[in-house]
Amino acid sequence: MSIDLAYFELPFRVPHRVGTTTLTARRGVVVRKRLGRRVGFGEVSPLPGAHRETLAQAVESLIEGVRNSSSPMLPSAAFGLSCAVETAAANPRYGLADQPRTVDIGVNALFSGTAEDARAAIESGAFEGFRTVKLKIGRARRADDHRLIQTAIELLPREVRLRLDGNRTMGLTGIVGLLRDVDTRRIEYLEEPLRNHTDLCELARRTQVSVAIDESLYDPEALEHVLGAPGIDVQVVRPSLMGSLEEVEAVITRGRINGMDTVLSTALESSYTIALVARLATVMEVGDRDHGLSTAPFLSQDLVDPMPVVGGRMALARALPVPSLEFVPAEKFTLPASARA
Ligand SMILES: [Mg+2]
Repeated sequence: MSIDLAYFELPFRVPHRVGTTTLTARRGVVVRKRLGRRVGFGEVSPLPGAHRETLAQAVESLIEGVRNSSSPMLPSAAFGLSCAVETAAANPRYGLADQPRTVDIGVNALFSGTAEDARAAIESGAFEGFRTVKLKIGRARRADDHRLIQTAIELLPREVRLRLDGNRTMGLTGIVGLLRDVDTRRIEYLEEPLRNHTDLCELARRTQVSVAIDESLYDPEALEHVLGAPGIDVQVVRPSLMGSLEEVEAVITRGRINGMDTVLSTALESSYTIALVARLATVMEVGDRDHGLSTAPFLSQDLVDPMPVVGGRMALARALPVPSLEFVPAEKFTLPASARA
């Protein structure tokens, strides 16, 4: 198989914190695959702090996989190659036939900041029309998280529901205490708030709120514990952390068998990958939830024009967008030194 590659660098609007690292830009490569007269594209851009592999390792795995006609070992490489092959084939199985099945999909709003910032955002209409708003919690003091949640509940329309993402930073008693006087009917789910995954079922039982898994999907020991457990109702799937589209489909199916809906998201990839994952969401049996795809505003440049999000719905273009970059054959490709760190 022959492929072409192009390097890209997309600056963040404001430096982005992932775990303990601060990133100024998304770096990656786009894979171009020709199939007869058709051309397909896929993005390989492991996100430091989320993916275990570096970009250099991903590119090496990709080139090796193509050379040996095998599937690349590293998830972000397998994902990018699979996207290029399946978009070239316009595979309807993954929603990649020329016309999307639906004109739009529901997406959640995303908010990270203080209660005062949330008030300003809501009053400026930033969440207008969204059915779900995801709030980051667990980074501030408990009292600050509490004010943030209560402010959102008070100021957002009654039908809007919150997703509280704690990124494994909290203890069981801490979050149970945080939610004690909160109207939990306004919360759609708690997304992996606990440092200790073995407490997630107990959290669902004590709060009577659904729990969503995210980090546990990439942690085999945790996954075994939570898969199919009561109260674990949702999985947040970021395809480039899983691998090929076939593997992503298998994860969605496994989730469904274990009583979980799937919310599709990305690892802050470009709007090309967002468009592709949105297509995937229209054909997979994921359940009727909003997807975590409204992340384009984090980047100040993009590979393609972002899909417009209006009133909590992301419009799907009639054709997948095409990244315009300078491609070279994979054999001749080298990463710039600045991207090899
Ligand atoms: Mg999460």
